Amino acid sequence: METFKINCLVIGGGVSGITIAQKLSLYMEEVVLIERNNRLAQETTSRNSEVIHAGIYYKPGSLKSELCIRGKELLYEYLRIHNLPHTQCGKFIVASSAEEERKLFDIYKNGKECGLTDLVINDERIKQYKFLNSKTSIFSPSTGIFDSYSFIESIKSQFLDNQGILLVGNRLKKIEYHKGSFIALIEDLNNSSEFLIETKKIINTAGLQAFKILNEFKGEEIYKPAYKKGEYYSYTGKEKLDHLIYPIPGKFSLGIHATIDLGNGIRFGPSSYDVNEIDYEISESQRKDFHNSIKKYWPSIKSEELVPTYSGIRPLLEGFEDFVIDELNLDENVMLSILGYSSPGLTSSLAMAEKVSNQLNDL
Ligand SMILES: Cc1cc2nc3c(=O)[nH]c(=O)nc-3n(C[C@H](O)[C@H](O)[C@H](O)COP(=O)(O)OP(=O)(O)OC[C@H]3O[C@@H](n4cnc5c(N)ncnc54)[C@H](O)[C@@H]3O)c2cc1C
Repeated sequence: METFKINCLVIGGGVSGITIAQKLSLYMEEVVLIERNNRLAQETTSRNSEVIHAGIYYKPGSLKSELCIRGKELLYEYLRIHNLPHTQCGKFIVASSAEEERKLFDIYKNGKECGLTDLVINDERIKQYKFLNSKTSIFSPSTGIFDSYSFIESIKSQFLDNQGILLVGNRLKKIEYHKGSFIALIEDLNNSSEFLIETKKIINTAGLQAFKILNEFKGEEIYKPAYKKGEYYSYTGKEKLDHLIYPIPGKFSLGIHATIDLGNGIRFGPSSYDVNEIDYEISESQRKDFHNSIKKYWPSIKSEELVPTYSGIRPLLEGFEDFVIDELNLDENVMLSILGYSSPGLTSSLAMAEKVSNQLNDL
């Protein structure tokens, strides 16, 4: 079987894989990115809210907090420089009961501890939304939305310009360690053939499968998945929004929020429930709970104004709330695995790429 010797193999062409590969290709030759689908970003990266998060909710000092705030800055800068579709529309977090008000103030305090200085309690603009049940609100001016597809395409062209090698329709089958190198067995799905890659550096950014690739290599079940599915519904009613509207968050999600897209359409989501399989069908049995969650802050909304649109699955891990960068060193070889990379992963992507690059250079 043919063997190709390269400097670095990146597994998985979602937002984390392509941004890391692009960053490494700035100074490293022979960076190869493999993606099993025929195009980049067909999984979690295209099944989310496309919100540029401000970094309000995450534990101060956590990776999520650090990478979200740094990533937001880098992402806005990138989108501006490359003239890519986005808007810094801002968002409201609304409390609809006295109990929620207490939680809202905790969120405000947390945001400040994370270093956000721009949060506003009861910004006047909330009054334009007469249909909302909002006793108290926080306004976050640095929250925005963007077109993740254009962003990925732009990063991809830079990667290719830097002589990065992109292999779509190529699936990693297994990794072994042999005579001081990683040997990856790749299946080329375009012509049903197989080949080997020999490398000293692997970046495992396989999203929902990343934990499995690492467990299989180590031969033990170190990480366990705790997938949470989130469904989205488009809104077909008459109300309009200029800002994003978020309820008080739950433990694993930010709550079923109202986001606007760049065409000014409104969609609600994501819900949050446990799943074991990767299945993107929208379950009608969840509709009632979905509708009831929105009614708490938008009482007049009708179930028939909600049309099922798409779903995504959060690649969470059992026992971990934060992102995980697992570093495995064997002699002078390294495998970095990005695990539990759920929200705010899109926002954090350029900061994660920066961090991974620094981590490789510090070895
Ligand atoms: C419902 C939901 C809402 C979200 N909302 C937001 C938001 O508003 N803002 C935000 O900042 N973040 C958000 N996120 C988080 C964000 O979408 C993710 O953090 C990010 O997309 C993860 O990207 P990734 O590259 O790690 O994974 P993925 O996009 O899943 O990419 C992994 C890739 O690896 C490939 N792959 C897997 N196995 C193999 C293999 N064996 N060989 C080759 N390729 C392989 C897959 O095909 C896939 O393309 C949300 C997530 C969810 C689920």
